[in-house]
Amino acid sequence: MILALFGPPGSGKGTQAKYLIRSLGIPQLSTGDMLREAIKSGADVGKRAKDFMDRGALVPDDLMIALIGERTSQSDCQKGFLLDGFPRTVQQAEALDRLLTSRGLAMTAVLSFKVDRAELVARLSGRLVCSRCGASYHERAKPTKVEGVCDLCGGSVGKRPDDRPEVVESRLETFMTSTQPVEAYFRQQGRLLEVDALGSEEEVKQRVAAAINGGRAG
Ligand SMILES: [Zn+2]
Repeated sequence: MILALFGPPGSGKGTQAKYLIRSLGIPQLSTGDMLREAIKSGADVGKRAKDFMDRGALVPDDLMIALIGERTSQSDCQKGFLLDGFPRTVQQAEALDRLLTSRGLAMTAVLSFKVDRAELVARLSGRLVCSRCGASYHERAKPTKVEGVCDLCGGSVGKRPDDRPEVVESRLETFMTSTQPVEAYFRQQGRLLEVDALGSEEEVKQRVAAAINGGRAG
């Protein structure tokens, strides 16, 4: 079971990823975590990646693929794995396919979480965070008992600059523009499973399970 997840910020992707790894018994591999681990372990790919990161440069695709290759050959990936934050470009998707093919494997499915744009803006721009303890709230979905005051610690609760509606709009625009080509690549191969991410966590969880089972059977 080799999965990748796509979803804009605010789509609930992170929550669904947690359900998936628990129910399938596979690890979630995020590019950030893999890089940090490789650097910490002193592995050769980690050293090479660190050179780029220290210079403020992006880690090149071939190095990222080498890193994924190493990480996914570890024993906890025997039943599969779930990629988070990769592939981000068609070039990366093709390189990943080559890596998997060379091991006689293939991507099982790419799940794409779909949420109406206006709904996403409402979700994201309504987020509130406690400046003292970091607890998170939402204007609509999870308001504090007393406006502007944290239920847990009494600290002041407000919006992060990143969650202003205009900033949210531009983050979404960037996300959609950059992921469209990769989604098209997987759609063309019949491996893209689009999931309606509107609704409760439980509802979305059911849809994800149905999409994966349907995708496997078909
Ligand atoms: Zn607090």
